[in-house]
Amino acid sequence: MPEELDPFRISQEQLDKAAGLMNLDKAAHAILREPMRELELNMPVRMRNGTTKVFKGFRVQYNNARGPTKGGIRFHPQETKDTVKALAAWMTWKCALANIPYGGAKGGVICDPKSMKGDELEELSRTYIRSLNGFVGPKVDIPAPDVYTNPQDMAWMMDEYSKIVGHNEFGVITGKPLEVGGSEGRFDSTAMGGMYVLREAAKMKKINLRKATIAIQGFGNAGNFAFELSKKLFGSRIVAVSDSSGGAHSEKGLDYQKLKDVKEKTGSVDNCKGAEKITNDELLELDVDILIPSAIENQITEKNADRINAKIVLELANGPVTPGADEILFQRGVLDLPDFLVNSGGVIVSYFEWVQNIQSFYWTEDDVYKRLDAIITKSFSDVVKTQREYRDNGKKISPRMAAYIVAVERVAAAMKIRGWY
Ligand code: GLU
Repeated sequence: MPEELDPFRISQEQLDKAAGLMNLDKAAHAILREPMRELELNMPVRMRNGTTKVFKGFRVQYNNARGPTKGGIRFHPQETKDTVKALAAWMTWKCALANIPYGGAKGGVICDPKSMKGDELEELSRTYIRSLNGFVGPKVDIPAPDVYTNPQDMAWMMDEYSKIVGHNEFGVITGKPLEVGGSEGRFDSTAMGGMYVLREAAKMKKINLRKATIAIQGFGNAGNFAFELSKKLFGSRIVAVSDSSGGAHSEKGLDYQKLKDVKEKTGSVDNCKGAEKITNDELLELDVDILIPSAIENQITEKNADRINAKIVLELANGPVTPGADEILFQRGVLDLPDFLVNSGGVIVSYFEWVQNIQSFYWTEDDVYKRLDAIITKSFSDVVKTQREYRDNGKKISPRMAAYIVAVERVAAAMKIRGWY
């Protein structure tokens, strides 16, 4: 991977820039530049064909000044420790910006879940959580789903942990199925949070979402629900969508059910009848009002940032815009809303799930959405307020930098008062 695309370098670069703008204390900056703890695991798993395969996995606990660390687990063939470190840093800023009482963490396993059978995945999930014994727990570090992991994997991990401690411990992990301590509204909470942010941003930019056109990159946990919700809540026209194989484009607007069916039957949305095929790169450059990158890192770079035509970029994926591209978009007046604001709905509802597990008292879907709306709308206004304050002091800063400043200030304040520096 070229150095400028190394996610951990990017996360450090972003932090350095924010630290400079806010005059962050040197010691606080040094602590926050590196993860507090990095675990590397080698996990033997018995495969269906009788052989034993050793999988490599990671868990990075970045900072716990504000509470137990929190963040998802990715099962990905190209997983790297540096990606996990960056994602753990972003979880730290995400939880601090949302002002929920957590630090940040992330986990990953190098594996190809698409080619593994159900019982192999179960064994891998159980082995992963066993290997972390002593380093996870509802008061220590609380994992959740992420790329290519799902509620079933979380249920197995919760079950394994519960066996180790000798009692049911639902609060050890979030994103669980409803039957075993999951929360109403968790399944589409990342996209729902993004929609609340979009609503606020459109108000600010005076964009009528009912007449707006949208392109969505990705049709997984985030992109799929972003499609459904932007149509349902705002009546927007989604003109393009893609997955890792390619995309579909229609100026008249795409049909959700048709896309879901074709994806299920053929494995990709790009086989959708009545729509033209489009590449992922072409999708990003379409002339639309709103672009929603909902797939993976490093999609908008210095190479294509000049050709992004959207008025708003809503970063529903983690890390889709590189720092160089961030700068270009900002100079060009594109409102690029940062990942750790836009996609914080997932971890906010994870927090609700953990709270419900602790109190064994469960909320309605309506309760969940209302509370999510209140928290994420406050995050959005904290970002806008900080941007205005800096502007009034003669510094023009991007929404990402404003979000960093709010988050880093909160983590630094907690570290200071605890006597860490
Ligand atoms: N994996 C999601 C994220 O990146 C959710 C994390 C969580 O719920 O802990 O924010």
